[in-house]
Amino acid sequence: MNEQTAGERAGGYDLVVIGSGPGGYVAAIRAAQLGLKTACVEKRETLGGTCLNIGCIPSKALLQSSELLEEARHGLARHGVRIAGVELDLPAMMAQKDKVVADNTNGVAFLFKKNKIDWIKGQARVAGADRVEVALNGGGTRLLTTRNILIATGSDVMPLPGIAIDEKRVISSTGGLSLSEVPKHLIVIGGGYIGLELGSVWRRLGSEVTVVEFLDRILPGMDNEVCRQFYRMLEKQGMTFKLSSKVAGVANAGKTLQASVAPANGGTTQSVEADVVLVSVGRVPYTDGLGLDVAGVNKDNKGRIIVDAYFATNVPGIYAIGDVIAGPMLAHKAEDEGVAVAEILAGQAGHVNYDAIPNVVYTSPEIASVGKTEEELKESGIAYKVGKFPFTANGRAKVNLQTEGFVKILADAATDRVLGVHILGADAGNMIAEAALAMEFGAAAEDIARTSHPHPTLTEAVREAALAVDKRALNM
Ligand SMILES: Cc1cc2nc3c(=O)[nH]c(=O)nc-3n(C[C@H](O)[C@H](O)[C@H](O)COP(=O)(O)OP(=O)(O)OC[C@H]3O[C@@H](n4cnc5c(N)ncnc54)[C@H](O)[C@@H]3O)c2cc1C
Repeated sequence: MNEQTAGERAGGYDLVVIGSGPGGYVAAIRAAQLGLKTACVEKRETLGGTCLNIGCIPSKALLQSSELLEEARHGLARHGVRIAGVELDLPAMMAQKDKVVADNTNGVAFLFKKNKIDWIKGQARVAGADRVEVALNGGGTRLLTTRNILIATGSDVMPLPGIAIDEKRVISSTGGLSLSEVPKHLIVIGGGYIGLELGSVWRRLGSEVTVVEFLDRILPGMDNEVCRQFYRMLEKQGMTFKLSSKVAGVANAGKTLQASVAPANGGTTQSVEADVVLVSVGRVPYTDGLGLDVAGVNKDNKGRIIVDAYFATNVPGIYAIGDVIAGPMLAHKAEDEGVAVAEILAGQAGHVNYDAIPNVVYTSPEIASVGKTEEELKESGIAYKVGKFPFTANGRAKVNLQTEGFVKILADAATDRVLGVHILGADAGNMIAEAALAMEFGAAAEDIARTSHPHPTLTEAVREAALAVDKRALNM
């Protein structure tokens, strides 16, 4: 055994968090703020989990940088800004991404120090309801005793049977964040948000991109009308789609790869050549090596840890949050659960409103939504009103030369309460926060319509859509 941590010297921890992603690190900080003696075990060398190391942050860094390249090449001239000889410097773009990641992960290390959280580097195993054994990265083991254990071990890439990922030519999202060359032809398997975001990055950097999706649509679960328009926009940008199709295998053909693409329901297979194939068919909860079977913690048939409304598992003293439990696999959902569980452990009334968790696709334009889609409302037989407003009628969107898309607000037909908001357009991800707040407060469309919105901003389109719910939009 190695030397003791401060928490151990003081007679054990109140809380040991396993995993330092947005769920785990936020839970640790909130717990420490509330006076709980807290340790966080992380097997990566850096803190921040999938989100900060190989997820949200590096993907958004590349989306931002590649969009600037696209703007410099094709957008700025329309504003009267001419730049000759715009060039991609891929190593510099990657270095910028790596710097952003390091700044963020170091930021979490600083917050741990500030909040006196013990950061224990190693692979944790639940050795009992009150003990966690850590195989330390530096060698040796350490046994942590604790009153509570929080499992926040997140998720991992979902494998596709028959297709081996080598992270060089057949890659997951992780490899897609650090290619050293721009592939001539990139096949993206899966039309979910990760595939479309990374596909957008590499298309902007010069790849021909083909997205193969098993379903007959992209972004399953998001509002249909929004997705249909978005699909046409991506096609216009030059992305190719093979919907209702599957990749049955990927063969090495020397310098290139040959992907066998077949109709989803069977039929003739077509061979498609590519330099790189990105597998992005989803993510699965990650509990490897945690010893949950021995500890007796129950999982569902998808491998997710089962918890009650208080994030408690079936084993007293063991809790779980984030991607490893049910619900949308999103960083802010994990964070909200982290805060809630820490507050519950400190005797407060922590709670997450799952009806008001926004969802953003950071492509260009962006898609952002919160609440129900039209399809969900129809399916549950809820009578609703629709208010829509296009960005073509918004002054600021015209100024920005970003008039694609619209805002759609769905409100209860009887009470006017906002049930869902869907935005397709530039900066939709920032604008959706207003809608989430409105829903959190149980606002009616009328409340948004009566709220003063600054002019000229894109947010005026949200207000106009709220006015349109009762057919009184002003600028349309
Ligand atoms: C490419 C990509 C882009 C994404 N973009 C977005 C986005 O824009 N917005 C968004 O909301 N979400 C995004 N996500 C999803 C987001 O990253 C996850 O929802 C979020 O990270 C989940 O947080 P978590 O705390 O549950 O787990 P994670 O972030 O997965 O962290 C879990 C941590 O636990 C550690 N761990 C696991 N087992 C052990 C063990 N036994 N011992 C010690 N440590 C262990 C892991 O090393 C990991 O660091 C993206 C994901 C990917 C892959």
